[in-house]
Amino acid sequence: MSSLYLHIPFCERKCLYCDFYSIESRAPMEGFLDALEREIRAYKAYGALEPVSTLFLGGGTPSLLSPPQLERIMGSLREHFTIAADAEVTLETNPGTVSGRTIAAFRSLGVNRLSIGIQSFRAEELRFLDRIHDAHQAEACVRMARAEGFANVSVDLIYALPGQTALQWEETLSRALSLEPDHVSAYSLIVEQGTPLARLVAEGTVVPAAAEQEAILYEGTMAVMKKNGFEHYEVSSYARPGFTCRHNIAYWTHENYLGFGPSAHSFWMEKNSQSAVRWANVANIASYGGFLGEGKLPVTMREDIGRAQMMNERLFLGLRSGGIDLHRWKNDFGAEFPAAQRNLAADLEGEGRLILGGDSIRLTDHGYMMADEIAARLMI
Ligand code: SF4
Repeated sequence: MSSLYLHIPFCERKCLYCDFYSIESRAPMEGFLDALEREIRAYKAYGALEPVSTLFLGGGTPSLLSPPQLERIMGSLREHFTIAADAEVTLETNPGTVSGRTIAAFRSLGVNRLSIGIQSFRAEELRFLDRIHDAHQAEACVRMARAEGFANVSVDLIYALPGQTALQWEETLSRALSLEPDHVSAYSLIVEQGTPLARLVAEGTVVPAAAEQEAILYEGTMAVMKKNGFEHYEVSSYARPGFTCRHNIAYWTHENYLGFGPSAHSFWMEKNSQSAVRWANVANIASYGGFLGEGKLPVTMREDIGRAQMMNERLFLGLRSGGIDLHRWKNDFGAEFPAAQRNLAADLEGEGRLILGGDSIRLTDHGYMMADEIAARLMI
């Protein structure tokens, strides 16, 4: 089984903190769709290898696609890939870009999971982040999704905004939970290089939340989510039973995936191999169309991932998500999890940071708070 990611690089307006590739004009949409179809066709040999178990339309703002545009994309995918009957098909949706009619149309085209970018329910925070919607539109979007029959709805939230108090974050979190989502992704605000937010921070206009405050908010989030019956299955991801994001889990467990569209990444490992290839598309819509127009793939980065790097990635990704699967480790690498790392893990277990089981090594909530540090300590 493999996964597909489609990057739809259009947004109404760039958000203050965003470093994903997207443009504010939809004028190049038709040219983009032509190029996307060419790219999908160029990978049809992969389509013959494995059926697709998850498909994720991200961006950018895929909910800016009109139903006929989405129909065109889905038609092209179905022509060259076998989408499994029970595939998880997610569309990232921004409040303020959809109506009940478009949501219904997306569902009729095979989308069965909406990931709704709410981020906050507080007016001043939404303004600060430069989001195009308000709290009312966010709530309406979730209600429309339910009304149109979506049984799998996720919401994205952001915490640790400059000056944000625990009470303010709790307000957003509890309003999100009152909408009964199946899945919540709660990210701390990261100051990414090259964003308008980074400029404001550099000139001293904005002071990011202190690490201690971020830790307090994260700890509070974990407690609230647990109390509300959500499984914490990745650093920033929480799911009701049966609603983990299969697509993201595929990324974190080294399953094969192809990414289409500008800036999309792909990962492919041949069967019974201990190494893999990762590649990335050019992050520019004009160049992307240009390459494909000339019959070339729009790839600008390609790296071979050898056995040692695969092991370290498996360790890092596993710790940040559901744990390192020790059986799969042995199967894939033909060796037990290294004794030196196991001893280090035992020390960390003594500190209450992780649980060292017979089948897996996974972080505790206490460990999640320093996931990257722990992964760095365990590197091979
Ligand atoms: S809507 Fe999403 S992709 Fe677009 S600018 Fe905002 S955060 Fe970035």
